[in-house]
Amino acid sequence: MYGIDRANYVPNRRDAYTDSPQLIGCNATISAPHMHAHGAELLLPHLAPGASVLDVGSGTGYLTAVFQRLVGSGRVTGIEHIEQLVELGRTNTMRDGFAAALADGRLSFVLGDGRKGWAPRAPYSAIHVGAAAPCIHPELVEQLAAPGRMIIPVDGTLGQDLWQVDKDAAGAVSRTKLFPVVVRPCC
Ligand code: SAH
Repeated sequence: MYGIDRANYVPNRRDAYTDSPQLIGCNATISAPHMHAHGAELLLPHLAPGASVLDVGSGTGYLTAVFQRLVGSGRVTGIEHIEQLVELGRTNTMRDGFAAALADGRLSFVLGDGRKGWAPRAPYSAIHVGAAAPCIHPELVEQLAAPGRMIIPVDGTLGQDLWQVDKDAAGAVSRTKLFPVVVRPCC
């Protein structure tokens, strides 16, 4: 994460390193740095060079860029349901040195409803979901590679919880509730 400067992705550079979310327009936020760190760290075993990654709710493109830097020759797809934010992800990463990755398809931002993933580029070794869902849609689990891991915030009885969904090399799926979080809902 030190390799990607958050200042290039936030609307107000003065607050770039404050550990809190910031509004980015369209009623969306860039997540707090500690949430980005959790996402990257938990997925790290599945972010080897060459891996395929899906970032649901890519927003500013910050974490999408972190994933691209880690997988190198692999392919990272950010999906957003707001067109301006698809453009924001593209513009921010283009400005931040990812022009070649955008041009050759190693990094792309697509417009769509990511609640059920993005089937055209599945399977993914790692799926990061940045907005809270009422449940874990089976389509997302189907789109995980074997082995693969997904990190997803899910509505619980007392707020939201971050869940880790693992698929092993034989295709067996396990789910682990990690810790409570506060993130924006999927819509
Ligand atoms: N990870 C990003 C943004 C996190 S905020 C960052 O840190 O910059 C959650 C994002 O999820 C918002 O950008 C919001 O527009 C997006 N989102 C919400 N529901 C969505 C859906 N159904 N499909 C795709 N994106 C969605």
